[in-house]
Amino acid sequence: MSNLESCYVCGASEYTQVAKQTDLRFFPEDEFRVVQCNSCQLVYTLPKLNGESLGKYYPTNYGAYNYNVEKMASEYDLTTTYMEPLVRRYGINLFAELFASGLKKVIAVLSNEFVRLRYQLSGLQRASVLVSFLPFRQKPGNYLHIGSGEGPTFLRLMKEGWNVSAIDINAELMEQWREYTPVNAIGGEIKNANFADNSFDVIFMSHVVEHLTDPMVELQALSRWLKPDGVFVCELPLYGTWGWSLKNKYTYYDVPRHTIHFTYQTISNLMQMSGFKIRKVLHVPYCYGFFFADFKRFCMTGSPADSQNGNTVISLIPWRHKALGYISWLFRTSGDICIYATKGKI
Ligand SMILES: [Zn+2]
Repeated sequence: MSNLESCYVCGASEYTQVAKQTDLRFFPEDEFRVVQCNSCQLVYTLPKLNGESLGKYYPTNYGAYNYNVEKMASEYDLTTTYMEPLVRRYGINLFAELFASGLKKVIAVLSNEFVRLRYQLSGLQRASVLVSFLPFRQKPGNYLHIGSGEGPTFLRLMKEGWNVSAIDINAELMEQWREYTPVNAIGGEIKNANFADNSFDVIFMSHVVEHLTDPMVELQALSRWLKPDGVFVCELPLYGTWGWSLKNKYTYYDVPRHTIHFTYQTISNLMQMSGFKIRKVLHVPYCYGFFFADFKRFCMTGSPADSQNGNTVISLIPWRHKALGYISWLFRTSGDICIYATKGKI
């Protein structure tokens, strides 16, 4: 039996079909099956993507690749904007939350709650708030960024003195990062990279784990590369939450790029089996900032129009769904979570 259709995590070959879905972004004629493993309940997409089909479904106009690296890199040289003091404080406290105990931990948790609330009430965009919440120590260290989105995050870290590596399947884009910045940019899948064990203080990936084509092998590599006192930050959409079901079809399955549709149980299972221990989970208020931006516009203009932020995915979401998305976050059932994990046992 080949692994053409077997479960990504437990390897079982018995599954039940839960949905059929076409590629709503690029190839509407290509249909895929969403199936659930009968053994471990993992929900995944068939047929699986492989080395050849990856390129087809991640064309150059894929959203995450819309970066003008040269321009961004020149701004990186010129900018005088350092990490905001509150964000830095949050990041330092995050380490205390994960590793300290007793009173020190309590103080870190409370102070982080305060910072998070302050940012969320200010109605900033989701990404600019949560991606900033990386765990920092007092001194810069080694940082690995998986997936080339959020380039500004690693540029900012580089300016702060961090030693930055990045991996993305878009080899051309990674070549540009190498050309214009000192980022150690690797074009390919995680399994094509080769770092020494215990290399990184922080490994970060946002909306990447649901795109992996060999998640067990790739997460095992990440857990080997993480230092014993390092932190793995993994943000992902959660399948089956009602916050998730508010997203339209364009975003929620996103087949075939979403190879796996995780529930909290299945991502926990995968992370544990690949050598991580989950220490903290944050619910991400999907389109929260956009809700507040819309509300402000409504108060000023009387029209609850979709936000004109140029983000196609977000602007396709109806206003009432954004409001419901906010409520779902309040009840901790939002469609996205951010997991903070440390090295565990395999
Ligand atoms: Zn399975």
